[in-house]
Amino acid sequence: MKVVKSMKYDVIIIGAGVTGSAVAREVSRQNRSVLVLEKNADVCEGSSKANSGIVHGGYDAKPGTMKAKMNVRGNELMEETCRTLDVPFKRNESLVLAFSQEDVDGLRELLARGEENGVPGLSIIYRDELLELEPNLSDKAYAALRVPTGGIVCPFELTMGFAENAAMNGVEFHLAEPVTAIAPAADGQEGYQVTTTKDTYEAKIVINAAGVYADKIHAMVSKVPMSITARRGEYCLCDKSVGNLVSRTIFQLPGKLGKGVLVTPTAHGNILIGPNAEDIEDKEGTCTTAEGLAEILAKAADSVKTVPSRQVITSFAGLRAHEAGGDFIIREAEDAKNFIDVAGIESPGLTSAPAIGEYVAGLLQEMDPVSLKENFIAERKRVLQISGMSAEEKAAMIRENPAFANVICRCETVTEGEILAAIHRPLGATTLDGVKRRTRAGMGRCGAGFCSTRVVAILARELGISPEEVTKFGGDSKILVSEGEEVSAE
Ligand SMILES: Cc1cc2nc3c(=O)[nH]c(=O)nc-3n(C[C@H](O)[C@H](O)[C@H](O)COP(=O)(O)OP(=O)(O)OC[C@H]3O[C@@H](n4cnc5c(N)ncnc54)[C@H](O)[C@@H]3O)c2cc1C
Repeated sequence: MKVVKSMKYDVIIIGAGVTGSAVAREVSRQNRSVLVLEKNADVCEGSSKANSGIVHGGYDAKPGTMKAKMNVRGNELMEETCRTLDVPFKRNESLVLAFSQEDVDGLRELLARGEENGVPGLSIIYRDELLELEPNLSDKAYAALRVPTGGIVCPFELTMGFAENAAMNGVEFHLAEPVTAIAPAADGQEGYQVTTTKDTYEAKIVINAAGVYADKIHAMVSKVPMSITARRGEYCLCDKSVGNLVSRTIFQLPGKLGKGVLVTPTAHGNILIGPNAEDIEDKEGTCTTAEGLAEILAKAADSVKTVPSRQVITSFAGLRAHEAGGDFIIREAEDAKNFIDVAGIESPGLTSAPAIGEYVAGLLQEMDPVSLKENFIAERKRVLQISGMSAEEKAAMIRENPAFANVICRCETVTEGEILAAIHRPLGATTLDGVKRRTRAGMGRCGAGFCSTRVVAILARELGISPEEVTKFGGDSKILVSEGEEVSAE
């Protein structure tokens, strides 16, 4: 019997970045039908895939703002969230450097602001103590704000953890389905009709979590102005061989456009350097520039003695969704009942995601109370990583499934068994990048040169498509062409 899927939902969430996915997971605790519509072929394809991965303490945001509240609450919730969703997270502390006595006034301001925001344990330390903590700091390092609650998290796993767990609890995800229009529900009923490139759906409540496009989605229902600028940030990622350059996240004093250039270990043991900040017109403008990369490497030299520029294995850029007012907008639109904007979620949006999920789920209960699910599944496990296992554990895995003996990505030691697990799970990988973010195949220093064709072959076999149909990230991003096929010059 053919199952006809309902086209009516209680809630539609637009956007499956970390914000939309966190909201989906928290709302999935409630007895509501929920649909997430995402324009890209996978979750975590927007800002959520290209950021610093820092769990900020909360000393930077202006007291009383949504940013300050969500940051501090998100930081509090992060450890438990990552434990239940099996997401790599470490409370590695942050240090905000001052390079002179005058800069120390800036640190004092941050400390006072942090204390007002409720950030625990902040202190100012001077050079001797600083070098005991981080011996590779530059000769310029004079003092620092020490932030013991600072941390690092894997942004991909956090986003996928929320999304997969939401799916486990009944949330439907329609990927590669951009929203093109929103209209009031038919016959004067409460709610909206949401049209995509494929279908039209109805929902009582619509949540706009569309990142840099949140202003466009907002304008589909509201006349109250909202303007989101894409603020690009570029990065260099360094090989794990220099992963012990610093163990804490090293910031410089924040400037007008953001928190400045940092040097930090990642949750997976690489070193990340960046970002700069540049407002751009193009909401898809994630290319890097020679000038931008040179700028971040030069600035990083103020923080650490030797910048490992010869160990840079890749560069990338992400777009912050900067709203003109400078704060997170998380509320029902003034002139559009039951339409909730979750917009302007620039940094510290990753840190704030667990708190934003909690807050929006609370808003829904105020607007339209329902009972909670008795059978809510709180835990989710990520794809197991064979590289961290003992020899006995590996042998046991291989006995159970020989695919765990077939190493596909040599740099990160990722096996066929792990790739199969990434494909065959809730919201499983369907693209090369999807496999990469779920397993780390292709994240090593060879830049996927060795493993990508082998991953393409596995994806094609498992998805029942030809290798030519496998894409890097959906749409036209094909990797292989058939003999005789014309290739566009673009
Ligand atoms: C350079 C940089 C550094 C950062 N560093 C940090 C950090 O260290 N710590 C921290 O806490 N935060 C950081 N952030 C902020 C953090 O990355 C973001 O706040 C967070 O990822 C925003 O998530 P989101 O889900 O709101 O947006 P996104 O991840 O962009 O998701 C929005 C989604 O909406 C989808 N969408 C858009 N239009 C449509 C449509 N019409 N139909 C359907 N779907 C649509 C998009 O495809 C996208 O998947 C940083 C951001 C950047 C850019």
